[in-house]
Amino acid sequence: MRTIKNRLISTLFLSMSILVIGVVAVDTSTFQETLSLFPREPTADGIWRNPPVVLVCKGAPVSESRVRRALSVWKRLGYEFYDPIFDDTSEWCISDSYAGAITIDLNGQDFPDGNLAVTRTFHTRHNKSIVGAKIQILSRASTKERVLEHEIGHALGWNHFPRKYHLMNPTWEFGGWDTFGLTYKALSRYIPISDIEDIDILITEHAE
Ligand SMILES: [Zn+2]
Repeated sequence: MRTIKNRLISTLFLSMSILVIGVVAVDTSTFQETLSLFPREPTADGIWRNPPVVLVCKGAPVSESRVRRALSVWKRLGYEFYDPIFDDTSEWCISDSYAGAITIDLNGQDFPDGNLAVTRTFHTRHNKSIVGAKIQILSRASTKERVLEHEIGHALGWNHFPRKYHLMNPTWEFGGWDTFGLTYKALSRYIPISDIEDIDILITEHAE
């Protein structure tokens, strides 16, 4: 009788331990999910290893001063660009060329419906070097405060960062001019130099 009682007790104890381990495991995964939804610092998909040229296509709904103002925000954070070229009609603007440039254009045929702007960033799979980026923007979005600066952020490799008043906030209404964590130095730390031979190109798309 005593043995059965002991067995019952130990079985009960064992089940309780499993239950406790189970609960801990669930808590951990929820915690990790929370961490990835709310990273402590901005995350990125790639980095320009050499400064890009900025090509503003003929017909793009952005003025020269607007583009220069947006670039100056990023220059202050340590990024370098070649002097922008305006009214461009080169291959980069009329076909799918992307190498070496951040191209800014009006929304084209491949523009996802219901968005204000979309940025596609072309980067290598493993060493995360950005080789080109295209920003497409609607006329009505182009004069909206912060939109161009935000899109250039994507073109430089940055993902969305859901902090209130942050420049890379995915929701324009909750965004602002906070550039916490967006310096070139921070990006270089996040995506360190790699000498992996890598010609596999991935496209990351951000739309808002
Ligand atoms: Zn965005």
